[in-house]
Amino acid sequence: MPTPADRIRALNERPLARDRDHVVYWMTAARRPGSSFALERAVDLAVELDRPLIVLEPLRVGYRWASDRFHRFVIDGMADHAAFFEPRAVAYHPYVEPEAGAGRGLLAALGERACAVVTDDWPCFFLPRMQAAAAAALDVRLEAVDGNGLMPIGRADKAFARAHDFRRYLHRELPRQLERWPLPDPTANAALRPATFPEDVAARWPRASDALLRGDAAALAKLPIDHGVGVVAERGGFASGRDLVAQFVDERLERYEDRSHPDAEVVSTLSPWLHFGQVSTHAIVRAIADREGWSPAEVDPKANGNRVGFWGTSVAAEGFLDQLVTWRELGLNMCRYEPGYDRYASLPAWAKRTLAEHAKDTRPAGYDLARLEAAQTDDELWNAAQRELVETGRMHNYLRMLWGKKILGWAPMPELALAWMITLNDKYALDGRDPNSYSGIFWVLGRYDRAWGPERDVFGKIRYMTSDSARRKLKLKRYLDRWGEAPTLF
Ligand SMILES: Cc1cc2nc3c(=O)[nH]c(=O)nc-3n(C[C@H](O)[C@H](O)[C@H](O)COP(=O)(O)OP(=O)(O)OC[C@H]3O[C@@H](n4cnc5c(N)ncnc54)[C@H](O)[C@@H]3O)c2cc1C
Repeated sequence: MPTPADRIRALNERPLARDRDHVVYWMTAARRPGSSFALERAVDLAVELDRPLIVLEPLRVGYRWASDRFHRFVIDGMADHAAFFEPRAVAYHPYVEPEAGAGRGLLAALGERACAVVTDDWPCFFLPRMQAAAAAALDVRLEAVDGNGLMPIGRADKAFARAHDFRRYLHRELPRQLERWPLPDPTANAALRPATFPEDVAARWPRASDALLRGDAAALAKLPIDHGVGVVAERGGFASGRDLVAQFVDERLERYEDRSHPDAEVVSTLSPWLHFGQVSTHAIVRAIADREGWSPAEVDPKANGNRVGFWGTSVAAEGFLDQLVTWRELGLNMCRYEPGYDRYASLPAWAKRTLAEHAKDTRPAGYDLARLEAAQTDDELWNAAQRELVETGRMHNYLRMLWGKKILGWAPMPELALAWMITLNDKYALDGRDPNSYSGIFWVLGRYDRAWGPERDVFGKIRYMTSDSARRKLKLKRYLDRWGEAPTLF
């Protein structure tokens, strides 16, 4: 079955160059070898044109926030891919820039001998700009293929301002989308020609060293990236992501209704793998389907926007799918249709108005960014969440909401609160620099929300949260034992 047309976007108007040497899949956002419409599309083109397939997976050093933490996670994935593609008829080339700008020209060098270049459609961070530049520079067709979620982003024609409206839209449209799933392993049985990576290109842009691929700290230390943001305990890559999906679905999903309690430890923790595209929504939903004996025929389009009742799965799975599909894909939608998705001006008018009316209110604490970064506020719970973020690259969702609300209360102005949240989130969070980063952070400032009373200092009508009520409502003891203040000896 061909890749669905509503998932393919031609980024330039160049034709296929049928008589050239190879088809290139430029892997940038869906960093996985299966359940990927983009890889599937590249395989189809290679088979149709009877040309070898090259998979190029590059990693830049010159982007804001590049650090040991994110590099390690992506390079773990490259090592998985090198092993995965090695016995297959695919020339896989992992490339890690040794210095900023060193990768310039690599795609063009492959592109000038390519029949077509296929890449991942991803509406966020620097990727759309990078892809637009590539589309203009390449003299051959460049296609972006969207495997980000269950709903192709391009099916909507506007940014949705409310989750409820987006959910209704999904309930109407998803049944048709669920008729076509990406192949779990598109290179397994494809009639691909044997492929080799062009030697001259490899000589100029060599494949990532074995030392880097196997996780050698000294090799990572040589790269010009932020070494202050350290690697985390988890290994990245599609293989660990696949194992985590299985473990979550088998052991924790049925307790997902307890997700707000940090001590319950029931959430999937999959967001870093989703962010780097090492795990796909389709694969997660498939795992849930297998576990629950569910099939897409069970969805109820008449659910009409209700949070429970559409999927026809267990209640716990419905709750999880609402996060994974409604909330996650709402963020993708905003990034595609609201060019200023990461700018203060894109907040709803009521939110900007009420924040402006309270811009001159006295802020109680007077913290600056450095003090927040070092988790040195007078709020023990906030400090704990910030410490967890800095050390592990993650933060529990409920605490993330509280964390943001406290920053809004402390920063001298709301625009600065936004800048601080983006800095701390995108610098430390493994899942940062993602559509969800901006939907979460902008939710703190009123996006996707409504006005709340009573009107308060600083917040105005923006929803308010306190650490005291979080402590009353949530099971937090073990969390605070782990991340709370270190006992002082003097
Ligand atoms: C201030 C703030 C900043 C945030 N920054 C990010 C970020 O940088 N990256 C990020 O992926 N998420 C972000 N979120 C959303 C949410 O906190 C995380 O997606 C979630 O905590 C990830 O943990 P998990 O994978 O265990 O989630 P689970 O509860 O297991 O959910 C599964 C998946 O559903 C999606 N999801 C869950 N909750 C949300 C949500 N509230 N909004 C959108 N999608 C959701 C995620 O893709 C998640 O991996 C932020 C939220 C807030 C309030």
